[in-house]
Amino acid sequence: TEACLTAIEGAGALNAFVHKTPEIAREQAAAADARIKSGDAPALCGIPLGIKDLFCTKGVASQAASRILEGFRPEYESTVTSQLFDAGAVMLGKLNMDEFAMGSSNETSTYGDAVNPWRRGNDDTALTPGGSSGGSASAVAADLCLGATGTDTGGSIRQPAAFTGITGIKPTYGRCSRWGIVAFASSLDQAGPMTKDVRDAAIMLQAMCGHDPKDSTSADLAVPDFEVMLTGDIRGKKIGIPKEYHMDGMPAEIDALWAEGRAMLRDAGAEIVDISLPHTKYALPAYYVIAPAEASSNLARYDGVRYGHRAKLSHGDGITEMYEKTRAEGFGEEVKRRVMVGTYVLSAGFYDAYYNRARKVRTLIKRDFENAFDAGIDAILTPATPSAAFGLGEMQDADPVKMYLNDVFTVTVNLAGLPGIAVPTGVDSQGLPLGLQLIGRPWEEGDLLNTAYALE
Ligand code: GLN
Repeated sequence: TEACLTAIEGAGALNAFVHKTPEIAREQAAAADARIKSGDAPALCGIPLGIKDLFCTKGVASQAASRILEGFRPEYESTVTSQLFDAGAVMLGKLNMDEFAMGSSNETSTYGDAVNPWRRGNDDTALTPGGSSGGSASAVAADLCLGATGTDTGGSIRQPAAFTGITGIKPTYGRCSRWGIVAFASSLDQAGPMTKDVRDAAIMLQAMCGHDPKDSTSADLAVPDFEVMLTGDIRGKKIGIPKEYHMDGMPAEIDALWAEGRAMLRDAGAEIVDISLPHTKYALPAYYVIAPAEASSNLARYDGVRYGHRAKLSHGDGITEMYEKTRAEGFGEEVKRRVMVGTYVLSAGFYDAYYNRARKVRTLIKRDFENAFDAGIDAILTPATPSAAFGLGEMQDADPVKMYLNDVFTVTVNLAGLPGIAVPTGVDSQGLPLGLQLIGRPWEEGDLLNTAYALE
């Protein structure tokens, strides 16, 4: 814990930690020492972690990197963080992210950009750690903490993991309780660990998941011991390679990485099978209807009354002006765009044409995966991202859809509710990390982690 606190002080340029909690960390570390001495050390006893700012942490600023939550200090602890603390973990502080987890580059944060510790060769250009869990990825990659929590609505654990050379798993929808996590798109949001390797991911996920009566979508299922499932034995497993993930214009290096991943799994005794997931091309448009629709509803609660920031009002302003001014000041550009798109697709005249249509497409995407699993496929291997980390500002001012294209390989997994993991498997010609994604059957995170373990 002390080593991490020192490292954090020296790594201000990464802008990964946005609220530091050294007093809490030292208190938890001392308690962990006592538990170790008494011979009762749980799995994460004394392990220093960073917590994404999307998680409510009792008495500690929890702002979802938004100005509108300025000054908000929750009276309660999220289920996931409280389970981590029960397992002995230590909280070093809160981590930077895109505002309300909307973004793929950590550039929409009210705290400013988080920075990737990696550089392209000798070029000093600051790169994005990805998003939305950019601070989590940067902190783990730079050894500021041993692991971090992330959340993934459309790729926000897996894409930043791939951009920073770490491991990140989004479990099956319902594995982790969403209680106390600021909601973005409730039917897609899941928490998960971001760690240095697959074993750490297995250990940390174990502590994070489980049934929670406070989240009606959390699954009442037993949680197997993920770590003991890491045998590295994947003989006879069928790994599907979906042809629709071969995108035109994809860098040759990503294609080569994918081929290497296939070879590694084949060498480990798995069978590589070409498959088709025919509705893949509709995933991104469906996601960018469904996620904003749910966000527009979830974000209606930030009204200047219940949480955080309230705009200064002029004499004669009524409640409508208070809402308008507060929301105009409190939300950033990307959040406003999502609220407007979401409100539009849910409005009476467009509901059927957009929202309902997107929900039908979502079902078709889910069926594509079910068909593959019914045909005996155990896991699906794809690239995690269409490129390596890009420069901060490089995608700025561009058409927002270009930024959305970053999620092309990851959003399908959220739409289908499946577990997905990004594992670092190589570097590009400039020395930047690249990752592959494995997608598993629902509730089979143990198997998925074991297949990822064979790829490491
Ligand atoms: N980049 C995607 C978005 O902006 C996914 C974000 C996420 O997974 N939280 O919506």
